Amino acid sequence: MQMDQLVSLCKRRGFLFQSSEIYGGINGFWDYGPLGVELKRNIKEAWWRDMVTGHDELSVPEGAPEAYEMTGLDTTIITHPQVWKCSGHYDLFHDFMVDCRETKGRYRYDQIVGRWVAYQGKRIVVTSTASGAEAMEQTERRALKFFKLRAKDADRLDWQSGLMPLPTIDDFQVVLAPEAKSLGTLTEPREFNLMFKTYVGPLAGEDNVAFLRPETAQGIFLNFKNVVDSTRVKIPFGIGQIGKSFRNEITPRNFTFRSREFEQMEIEFFCHPGSSSAWYQFWRERRFRWYVDLGLAGERLRLREHDADELSHYSCGTADIEYAFPFLPAGQFGELEGVAHRGDFDLRSHSEGKLVREGDRLVVEKGPDGKPKYRGSGKDLRYFDDARRERFLPHVIEPSAGADRATLAFLCEAYQEDEVPDEKGNPRHRVFLKFHPRLAPIKAAVFPLVNRDQMPELAERIYKELKPHFSVFFDAKGSIGRRYARQDEAGTPFCITVDSQTLEDQTVTIRDRDSLRQWRVKIEQCAAEIRQRLKSASS
Ligand code: ATP
Repeated sequence: MQMDQLVSLCKRRGFLFQSSEIYGGINGFWDYGPLGVELKRNIKEAWWRDMVTGHDELSVPEGAPEAYEMTGLDTTIITHPQVWKCSGHYDLFHDFMVDCRETKGRYRYDQIVGRWVAYQGKRIVVTSTASGAEAMEQTERRALKFFKLRAKDADRLDWQSGLMPLPTIDDFQVVLAPEAKSLGTLTEPREFNLMFKTYVGPLAGEDNVAFLRPETAQGIFLNFKNVVDSTRVKIPFGIGQIGKSFRNEITPRNFTFRSREFEQMEIEFFCHPGSSSAWYQFWRERRFRWYVDLGLAGERLRLREHDADELSHYSCGTADIEYAFPFLPAGQFGELEGVAHRGDFDLRSHSEGKLVREGDRLVVEKGPDGKPKYRGSGKDLRYFDDARRERFLPHVIEPSAGADRATLAFLCEAYQEDEVPDEKGNPRHRVFLKFHPRLAPIKAAVFPLVNRDQMPELAERIYKELKPHFSVFFDAKGSIGRRYARQDEAGTPFCITVDSQTLEDQTVTIRDRDSLRQWRVKIEQCAAEIRQRLKSASS
């Protein structure tokens, strides 16, 4: 599947629109249309149900060290600004960017690649923001143009390196920036904090600065004590939260993959330090299986453990669940979810103050006056274990997923094309979205074959019977072939048609989206049949 086919389907059928499109759009922001909102809600609801409300706390799940509890929260987007100072986001949550003085383009420093090339004694680095074969092709084309050569003279260029990341190149004077015509137009890299800044209250002064959260996790840590004190949860337990997060990404791209406003589905799982490694293993597998169960079953999904040099200074282990999105070069994967073993870093930071690594220990960072650089809350966030008579700071395992990236992956995976016979038996090209029935925006569509002979009335009766139970769509307009085609593109698993035989024997046809098999059932069994099929697809 080509990405642009999916992008155009998403717009045409109302899954996704560019935000503020009538004003020319705003980069990095996306709106979910009528079908998109249902799809994304179904994904979030599946997550919430499977992770939080549907979790059976009396049994030991496969692979878990013991039974555990789950609960949820919905915390604010804006918090006390000290939160981000202690969590490290204020000092450390940044990317480096470079600007091009000629084109005014702005790029993430680590996302530019370049190749050394020489011609008649002049050595330059030609850059690109693409990767793989596309970057090779672009750099060749740009080098030819720069040296005023024709395509047939390509072998006169002396390529002296493969694609290298810009941070490995010291001399910017010889760099041909992406899309620039002259050399040396890139500025030195500058740090850029990804948090959106705002002001609380009527005065826009430094004292009133606050930040839109770049992750939902901190709201959970801030309420750890509230949850323990107000409920009867006992360690090990997890708190789930779904909500918006904001990051002022320098280069939002690849459809919704990297947006500036997006939704996260995060769990902070609190456990005893002695069993945290086993819980980390459990959560990696559990979260991976969730995607598989909902249809990301093939080779495009993988679980990748980070190398030691990729780990953040506080993490004892991180694994990414990744998907081979079609906009990436062959063999490359994009992150869907990170599962991290965070030790006691978060609760300690919010208790004592911002932490830094000193050797193999984390210590409170000191300012020039020898006092903590950013003070924590001073609250004792340790947990008292009644049974063990032990007070300790729990360790945290964090499965952190993106609802938008999950939606995009499910869309990419669902996109299918085949050929089906039309009403006259001629082959017709078909596009359909093979969603797992739990995720499908519409579960069933009901059609009267023609608008006469009591067919609309009967179809309406079926529609009304199904509607209280699932999202059902009634469509009486256009040829039956077109109505099927619309539902295929919406990913509707079942279409129910009332035809002339219905009038004789009170049966309707049900058509299966994927196999195109059609079979007849009695009208009064229709609701039970659809319910049964949706249920068996989900178990
Ligand atoms: P990346 O390396 O791709 O920027 P990250 O490692 O910074 O991602 P995390 O901080 O681990 O991401 O966030 C957890 C999840 O939130 C990610 O796995 C992803 O699904 C989602 N996410 C993060 N940034 C974005 C974004 N800009 N747009 C959409 N989803 C995002």
